[in-house]
Amino acid sequence: MARVLSNSELENFPALEWPETAARMDPLLRRTLEQVLESQDGAVLSRDECLQLAYAEGDDLLGLLVAADALRRELSGNLVTYVVNRNINFTNVCFVGCKFCAFSRGPRESDSYFLTFEQLAQKATEAWQLGATEVCIQGGLPHGLPPFYYRDILRAIKRAVPGMHIHAFSPMEIVYGVELTGMPLADYLSMLRDNGLGTLPGTAAEILDDEVRHILSRNKLSTGQWKQVIRTAHGCGIRSTSTLMYGHVETPTHWVNQLLLLREIQQETGGFTEFVPLGFVHQNTLLFQQGLSRPGPTLAEHLKIHALSRILLAGSINNIQVSWVKLNRRLSQLCLHAGANDYGGTLMEENISREAGATAGQYTSPDQFQSLILAAGRIPAERNTTYSRIQIKLQPEPATFEQSLTPEFA
Ligand code: SF4
Repeated sequence: MARVLSNSELENFPALEWPETAARMDPLLRRTLEQVLESQDGAVLSRDECLQLAYAEGDDLLGLLVAADALRRELSGNLVTYVVNRNINFTNVCFVGCKFCAFSRGPRESDSYFLTFEQLAQKATEAWQLGATEVCIQGGLPHGLPPFYYRDILRAIKRAVPGMHIHAFSPMEIVYGVELTGMPLADYLSMLRDNGLGTLPGTAAEILDDEVRHILSRNKLSTGQWKQVIRTAHGCGIRSTSTLMYGHVETPTHWVNQLLLLREIQQETGGFTEFVPLGFVHQNTLLFQQGLSRPGPTLAEHLKIHALSRILLAGSINNIQVSWVKLNRRLSQLCLHAGANDYGGTLMEENISREAGATAGQYTSPDQFQSLILAAGRIPAERNTTYSRIQIKLQPEPATFEQSLTPEFA
């Protein structure tokens, strides 16, 4: 049985080199990783090999982390990208009742809120003036929303700030919009796109397994619905992120199933911009308080999911993001050494993780992002939402250039 790594061994893994780590690994797992390092393609692995990596412990886990970092260097270089953006959660009123959510409120609770279109436009305008290129808009699902409400949010923002990229509406919100309007899914998504929707957050995925979903939230969209919304959005030219929430009731087998599914969708559509592992923030959630989940991820799990996703998604989804609002900043830095290459958004306000008990704060300025990235020994670079424009930021004199990446979208 593999030894259990201490936190200090895990925290110090970035100092390890591949040859010395590989020498201490199980030879089969080492060979598995070497195949991906050589081909730079996670598709060379069988499902069994993926599972063996997902359950790696001890020296095998250290080998996974070091190999993921080496692969990141090959596939994404030493840049760490980020997007200057603002999160706008337009309401916290929601009828869905996810047990992992501490953000939603009933309509009559004293701290429930609903922003007006004018307030949304004002927030987007402020963000634009402060240099944001993206607004990320998601909210609760209130009963009785006017049928074209999501379209009208887009119109209000585009009227105020035509150049702003709108990254908005989870697949759950899309399913609700379809229900409210009675429109076919593809027509509904096309209508949103024509009114300014740029990209879709691939949230509401949590774990794409209906048994697990039933524990997390009985009213949430099914795995089949999530896949249908994402595939249809990609087919309509709306790209999306992809996510996975870890550290609650799921097992590493669920991680593997989900990563393989995301890879399959990416092979069909090319529509994913990045993969974002989202650590479960347990403190203020019913899921944890009712004893249904473990108390969030361990350090080993945080590092392992970032490394595993780098290895399994190599050649398919090459941007792996750390969600710094759910991790602390030290942990985010460590994950950047375990396969991640993107720091996500600067987020001028972020309510969802904070309500659940996350303490990383609501906003990190672009200057702070740059300092954190430089402190991790990497090169900071501001990107747009789809990674098609990247501007390197070097201190003290920023040297800038624009790099056009090969479009991945099919
Ligand atoms: S996660 Fe979203 S859908 Fe679920 S309860 Fe919270 S706000 Fe509502």
